[in-house]
Amino acid sequence: MTISSGVTHRLKNFELKRNQMLKIENLHATVGDTEILKGLSLTINAGEIHAIMGPNGAGKSTLAYALGGRPGYEVTAGSVTFTPLPLAGGAGGGQTSEEGPPLTPPASGRGTDLLSLDPHERAAAGIFLGFQYPVEIPGVSNLQFLRESLNSQRKARGEEALNGAEFIKLAKEKAALLKMDMDMLKRAVNVGFSGGEKKRNEMVQMGILDPKLAILDETDSGLDIDALRTVGSGINSIMRKPDKAVLLITHYQRLLEEVKPDFVHVLANGRIVKTGGPELALQLENEGYEAIAEAA
Ligand code: ADP
Ligand code: MG
Repeated sequence: MTISSGVTHRLKNFELKRNQMLKIENLHATVGDTEILKGLSLTINAGEIHAIMGPNGAGKSTLAYALGGRPGYEVTAGSVTFTPLPLAGGAGGGQTSEEGPPLTPPASGRGTDLLSLDPHERAAAGIFLGFQYPVEIPGVSNLQFLRESLNSQRKARGEEALNGAEFIKLAKEKAALLKMDMDMLKRAVNVGFSGGEKKRNEMVQMGILDPKLAILDETDSGLDIDALRTVGSGINSIMRKPDKAVLLITHYQRLLEEVKPDFVHVLANGRIVKTGGPELALQLENEGYEAIAEAA
C-alpha cells in the first residue's frame, strides 16, 4: 500500500464513521395501550434525504413523535442514537474538507442516546420536528416565539444569544426564502393562518433554528402547487447540506419532485417493509401501498 492510498483509506474510514447521523434500531412504541411501531430500524447518514411513505394509520406520525419525544408516545423497546457532526472549528476541532464539512471524525461513542433526552434537549441537540398539524399559540407573536426558541437552543449549546437586530436580520432572510411576509411573523403563532401558511411558517422556523436533522411530517399537505414549490426549494436550501439530513414523511410523490430523496421507505404495520430509490415513490403512486406492503 502506498502512503497516499493509506491516507485515502483512512479518510474513507473517517467518512464512514462520521456519516451515521441517526440510527434507529428495533424501535417499538405504543400510543395509549396499542403498539404502533413494531421493531422499526432505519439509519440516516449525514447528507442524505430519506422519504417515508405509507398508508394512513401506518405509524408515520408516531415515528416522528417518538423521535421528537412527545408525551403519550411511549417507547417500549429499541434504541435511537443521534450523532450530529461537530461544527467545523468547533469543540470537536480542526480540519475542514474543501467542500466545507468537517473531516474530524466523531470520537467513538460520541453518539447520543436520543431517547434519554427531554424534547427541548433533543431540539437543542439539533433535531427539528415539523408537525403534520402545526399548533396555534394565541398571544405569542411568531417573532417572539422564534427568538426565544433560537436563543434557548443557543444557550443550551453554550453559544451566545442573538440580539434583536441580529435576530430580525436572520428572520427576514429566512422569511424571504419561504416567500413569507414579515407581517405574518409579527402575528400570533399560526393563529388564523391557512393550512399552507402554517406549513410555510414551520419552514421559516426550521430555517431560523438551522437544525442538523429535520423530521418533516406531511409538510406538503394543504399546500397548493406554488406553495409546494416554495416549500420544496426552502427545504433544499436549508437542509440539502453535507452535514445535515432530512426524514421526509409524505403521502405524495409530488413533493419528492422538489426535494429529491436519496432513499424511499415504505412504512406499514409498524415497520419499514421496503426500501428503494426515488423510483419506489413512483411505483407506490401507480400501484398503491397495499400491493407493495403485501408483497414485501
Ligand atoms: P400515520 O401518521 O401513518 O397516518 P399515526 O402514527 O398518526 O399514523 O397513527 C398510527 C395509529 O395510531 C393509528 O391507528 C391511530 O389511530 C393510532 N393513534 C394515533 N394517536 C393515537 C392516540 N392518541 N390514541 C390512540 N391511538 C392513536
Ligand atoms: Mg400522520
